Amino acid sequence: MSVPTQRRTKSSRLRRASHFALKKTILIKCPKCGQMALPHRVCEFCGTYKDRPVISLKTRAKTAKQKAQERKEAAKTKEENKEIKKK
Ligand SMILES: [Zn+2]
Repeated sequence: MSVPTQRRTKSSRLRRASHFALKKTILIKCPKCGQMALPHRVCEFCGTYKDRPVISLKTRAKTAKQKAQERKEAAKTKEENKEIKKK
């Protein structure tokens, strides 16, 4: 593995680091629901882009419900397994 021959000076290091600063994220108010959202992207809260529905929120709600159900089922099976082990 190659090793740098010379130590970089403080000024050269800082010159390189001058481009490392992060840009502030810009948020706009969604015209439909009024939530703060990223510009030029689908609103995460109402699923619209340019006042047109792009993501159906029913499917999103379903998936959230399904996830909750799956968690409940997983917890139940864990408890059942514990009871079986105890017996
Ligand atoms: Zn919205």
